Amino acid sequence: MTTRVWDYLPEYEKEKADILDAVEQVFGSGQLILGGSVKGFEEEFAAYHGAAHCTSVDNGTNALKLALEALGVGPGDEVITVSNTAAPTVVAILGTGAVPVFVDVREEDFLIDTDLVEAAITERTKVLLPVHLYGQSVDFAPLRALADRYGLKILEDCAQSHGARHHGDLVGTLGDAAAFSFYPTKVLGAYGDGGAVITSDRATDQALRELRYYGMEKVYYVVRTPGHNSRLDEVQAEILRRKLTRLDTYLEGRNAVARRYEAALGDLTGPGRLQLPGTNEGNTHSYYVYVVRHPERDRIIEALKAHDIALNISYPWPCHTMSGFAHLGYAKGSLPVTERLSQEIFSLPMYPSLPEAVQDQVIAALREVLASL
Ligand SMILES: *Cc1c(COP(=O)(O)O)cnc(C)c1O
Repeated sequence: MTTRVWDYLPEYEKEKADILDAVEQVFGSGQLILGGSVKGFEEEFAAYHGAAHCTSVDNGTNALKLALEALGVGPGDEVITVSNTAAPTVVAILGTGAVPVFVDVREEDFLIDTDLVEAAITERTKVLLPVHLYGQSVDFAPLRALADRYGLKILEDCAQSHGARHHGDLVGTLGDAAAFSFYPTKVLGAYGDGGAVITSDRATDQALRELRYYGMEKVYYVVRTPGHNSRLDEVQAEILRRKLTRLDTYLEGRNAVARRYEAALGDLTGPGRLQLPGTNEGNTHSYYVYVVRHPERDRIIEALKAHDIALNISYPWPCHTMSGFAHLGYAKGSLPVTERLSQEIFSLPMYPSLPEAVQDQVIAALREVLASL
């Protein structure tokens, strides 16, 4: 059978009655925009995190962009982040008129190298934007110390890390605000687009509510600051409410898949050989994607094609090497670890309902290919 890196259909089969009931509930509710389901989801998503506020929006990119704007970021400001992220992180920063500033990542966990952040801070720096890449938290304490010392805000990009913990705290509660995506592949995924921002600061949340609604506080009101139309759809909100009650089950499913990969591939790891994703001390992992690393990545992927194994690369091109971001002026070689990793990483299939038979097929094929290198 042909494998897929991600597939929502097995989950849909299981949850079909509930998902369709959510759709019917909204269609029959008499309120299709900013109704009870959006309000309910915002309350429940905030409560899940123990956060004071949640404003839902139409996607994760706009969650980042509006959150940056709500934190006061605009033209001329600088936002420090990483280049080995989904391009929308960078697009969102540019969308505010600010300039993304990239720092390199660490070999061991592919996360922001907090030792390099201070050197990237200038008078124009407004926000640190760490990405909890692949599903585990960055080292947060050094970032908080720098933010406090230099008077910066921290916006967490939690698009890949729903439900992940850092020393007991859920990611999204560590910074001044946190942006989430509910793109279907994400750990908490809608049946279409969705996003949200959580914060414990009332003024930030109020600014977000206006920014997603043209810049108005309420219907038929004055625009105070021109905003956007970035509302979460009622249908997606109701589906997300239902799925939020199962988030911990999804996390267990993903972790079970990871444990099976570890048990079956652990003996192939080592320097110059296979590197499996680790979990740093104090972290729990939500395994948005299961990213492994090998110096012979391209040969492995080519050989696995003959076994009908589908693989992804998250991500094949670091953002600073993309033509659309060339104007930012990063030369090739300027972020050496980021660039090296992009040549060596690939993702094995990962989703909570991944059938064991498919996983076994992936494991067997990978073992065979690695033995033949
Ligand atoms: C998915 C993702 C986004 C963007 O979310 P969308 O809902 O697709 O707009 C932003 N940042 C990261 C790290 C992501 O993985």
